Amino acid sequence: MSFLLSAHSTHYPHEIFMDANATTPVLPELQALMSRVYNTHFGNPSSPHYAGIRAKRILSDTRAEAGRLFGCASDRILFMSGATEGINTAVLSVLQLYAGGRGKGHLLLYGATEHKAVPEALRHWNELLRVGAELQAIPVNEDGLLDYDFIRSQVPHAIMICTMGANNETGVFADLQQLEQVIRSAAPQVPWLVDCVQMLGKRPVALGKTTIDYAPFSAHKLYGPKGVGAMYVRDGAPFTPLQTGGGQEQGLRGGTENVAGVAALGQIFAWLNHPETSPFQDADTLYGYRHEIITALRAAFPGLIVNHPLTGSLPTTLNFSVAGYSSAELIAIFDAAGIRVSAGSACSTGGTRSFVLDAMGLPAWQSEGAIRMSFGPAFSQSDLDALVERLTFIREKITGVNGWGQGALYIPQPLAAGMGWILCRSTQQVLALKEPHSVMEDIRACCGSSDWQLREWNQTAQDFAGFRIEPDAQGIRVTALATMRSLVLTDAGIALTDDIHPIALGVAELHCDHMALIDVRETSEARAQYHQDTESCFVSIPRALWCDYLLTAELQDTPEPVFFCRSGRRASDVARLALSVGWPQAAVCTAAASEVFDWIQKPKDPDS
Ligand code: PLP
Repeated sequence: MSFLLSAHSTHYPHEIFMDANATTPVLPELQALMSRVYNTHFGNPSSPHYAGIRAKRILSDTRAEAGRLFGCASDRILFMSGATEGINTAVLSVLQLYAGGRGKGHLLLYGATEHKAVPEALRHWNELLRVGAELQAIPVNEDGLLDYDFIRSQVPHAIMICTMGANNETGVFADLQQLEQVIRSAAPQVPWLVDCVQMLGKRPVALGKTTIDYAPFSAHKLYGPKGVGAMYVRDGAPFTPLQTGGGQEQGLRGGTENVAGVAALGQIFAWLNHPETSPFQDADTLYGYRHEIITALRAAFPGLIVNHPLTGSLPTTLNFSVAGYSSAELIAIFDAAGIRVSAGSACSTGGTRSFVLDAMGLPAWQSEGAIRMSFGPAFSQSDLDALVERLTFIREKITGVNGWGQGALYIPQPLAAGMGWILCRSTQQVLALKEPHSVMEDIRACCGSSDWQLREWNQTAQDFAGFRIEPDAQGIRVTALATMRSLVLTDAGIALTDDIHPIALGVAELHCDHMALIDVRETSEARAQYHQDTESCFVSIPRALWCDYLLTAELQDTPEPVFFCRSGRRASDVARLALSVGWPQAAVCTAAASEVFDWIQKPKDPDS
């Protein structure tokens, strides 16, 4: 486990985790409880001796707390690995009744904004058991609420209906009483699953008083550990174990129970049964916190739009978009400032838009640029103060940033583009090396002004703003007059020498005393970086200025330059470029920028 101890042993004091709908940290009280369980209650709950009996009591105590919380008999609660297992168990339990084509002509209904565990489980078991039913998404309106008329008309043909208590991306919650009336008036018996993962601790869940058949929960969404959860199963609901084995959970779920995890779950249920003893805030306080977060965010990003109704969504979830920013750009800015957020759901990494917001019919830019900021009910006033301070920091850093800098030689996407230009700020002149039409558009977009005077290069050797531009066999040679370093622009981009193998470093190999760290992220992201830089030598080079910097920077006495960015890819492009224009050395740090800053700020261990 050395990787855990070496690379990740840093405590992250600067990190503000605002992605609670993806997961939450395990509260110290629960860590301590689990540690006690590991020490004293490690017995196998199926063993007949006292060590086993002690462990078994944890299961029965937790079941009793769950029964109290959900208003049901405690034996209606099964422990399992989490909500995904619960969802699969419920779907299997129903669909096995229709195996071998007996579902033909029937529907499997699920909400269009369901977590993908639901439609995936339906699809999987429908295929595997050859049920032959048709999956049908229930549409939602622009507020994210299910279309009741659609349910009324379709549910009589359904063999199962799956809805959610609260949505993980928007926090929009269902009126379960109303929904129950709609479903039961049209289909009194249809098995009904309600995914209660995001509701727990935020909305009341009196399951025993409802006709809900299956309700899965997950501990890690409410400060418990990952890999443990529970499912309520209504008495009389169809049931088939997903896994069998040693007869655990009354034979309904084989496998030795995660006793420590269940103990944590039990403490969470106990807190919800006795809120006065819990570390959780009440809903009004949480709504107040969310309001203050929105105010601070709007100050930093005036174009912010909230993507869901504020009443009718969990107080702990905020989903928004900012005109002019993609979600990747916003995540990068927040991440640099030490605020961890997500674009939509954590489970859909890589997607460029939100299917939830698409289903709600929001405009494409809102869906493509969506950010989810979520916190848990244990969020406190001091957490809020820290977040607001950090959002103010972002506002101060990025207001007015246009990525333009002071620079002269600007070549968009240097390794791929076939165009570039040089600015002379004192005369407000632009010399376009290629493609003069798009140059002016870019300049307007970058500096918001059309006062620049455009000149075209006359295709002969010419000096402009400190550079000599001349034709070259391969394309256009641009040389910085102060250093005589040059690069060649070709139609395919910037010509690089082939024999370049920059050294890739991990963060632990950085030795700041002998290296210059060069940050090549976007301007806004680099400026939002939250760090207390003490002694190290830093240069931040916005994309617009790489070429200018690489050609004009003083290299004498420069320590070895190490380029870094978010993922390492851009950094290695720039390092290759540096070597190709004549820098004697260059290295790439493959660690993410925030890791580099964490490392620099960490007090140095004299022994290491
Ligand atoms: N359902 C919802 C609404 C969720 O947010 C999640 C977790 O992202 C799940 C189900 C899956 O839960 P688990 O991680 O316990 O399998």
